[in-house]
Amino acid sequence: MTVAAAAAAGFARAFGAAPEGVWCAPGRVNLIGEHVDYAGGLCLPLALSRVTAAAVRRRDDGTLRLVSEGFGGVSFGRLGQPEGHTGGWGAYVVGVIGALDPPGFAGADIAIASDVPIGAGLSSSAALEAAVALALAELSGLPVDDPGRAALAAACMRAENDYVGVPTGGMDQQTALRGRAGHALLLDCATGEVEHVPIDLESHGLALLVVDTDAPHRLVDGQYGQRRRDVEEATRRLGSLRDVGTVAALGALTDPVLRRRAGHVVTEIARVRAAVAALRDDAPERLGPILDAAHRSLRDDFEVSSVELDSAVDAARAAGALGARMVGGGFGGSAIALCRATDVDAVAQAVTVAARERDLPRPKFLLATASAGARRCA
Ligand code: ADP
Ligand code: MG
Repeated sequence: MTVAAAAAAGFARAFGAAPEGVWCAPGRVNLIGEHVDYAGGLCLPLALSRVTAAAVRRRDDGTLRLVSEGFGGVSFGRLGQPEGHTGGWGAYVVGVIGALDPPGFAGADIAIASDVPIGAGLSSSAALEAAVALALAELSGLPVDDPGRAALAAACMRAENDYVGVPTGGMDQQTALRGRAGHALLLDCATGEVEHVPIDLESHGLALLVVDTDAPHRLVDGQYGQRRRDVEEATRRLGSLRDVGTVAALGALTDPVLRRRAGHVVTEIARVRAAVAALRDDAPERLGPILDAAHRSLRDDFEVSSVELDSAVDAARAAGALGARMVGGGFGGSAIALCRATDVDAVAQAVTVAARERDLPRPKFLLATASAGARRCA
């Protein structure tokens, strides 16, 4: 059964009727450009083939009822006033409704299904927000062309920032709504502008393996906030790190920790530009050393890796990956490895064995293929 069909079936089970439609939005993985969004840098995510689906039927009585496979029911008697057994996840949906404020909205029944790994750093949260946002936008006549989608993404980001309380920078939501099949999304975090960069791994015999380490996040909140403050402090002293250009210019920072943090941002932005050039030259094998350098920078200078992530990256490389790095905020979550398509099984096996030898959780795997952003799927 497809995820869209699962959402429709869940809708019928919970609400005893058919939805008006089903909308799907993808998870994402960031190829390169980590921890640079809040420095106004560049990043290069791609939308995954894994999606979250929202089956929706409007109501006119001010009632909002939500169900999601495996998450338990959430029912909101009157809009904005939770009652019954509320799971925390309802805040994502209520947040999207609040931030989007769709004209004429007077309630809805919504059933969710998903095959995006949850809490793995592949942005199941933005997939949920984007599926609901696109559904409500289409049903209430809001624009869903590209400028419209940029506005929807901004609303989804506000939902996560203001209603859920997670300070995400907008990359996830932009990718979930504006990703394009066969393309990575070059996102300028300073202006919000995007460019679609073709990515063709297959015809080069390559594949992008995603390793979900299944490691619990540890102290993520405090560490993430501290890294942001470090980058902001370096920016206060030097101006935008994007304009600094070279690490040599960071000599003005006397604090060695700040210098390393800023060094990551400066070199990571350069790596995004190098990755875009490699893709434009249709030379994706050049991404390998770029991923390796990004991992060293995140591990040694930004200090956001973990034993699980380092294990996955080292094992992937030793088993023949062209390059590998941790992705996402760090301290757990996922890693990516650029592999020859014929090596994918061997690399996955090596990563699994390495985790077992270190007594770490058993990793899970999926292949990243650059896929479309949110769309109506039934
Ligand atoms: P990530 O975005 O990396 O997967 P987050 O912690 O940002 O991790 O988001 C995960 C949270 O989003 C879940 O704990 C849940 O509250 C919500 N969520 C994501 N997908 C779903 C879903 N299919 N159904 C219900 N809630 C979901
Ligand atoms: Mg998230």
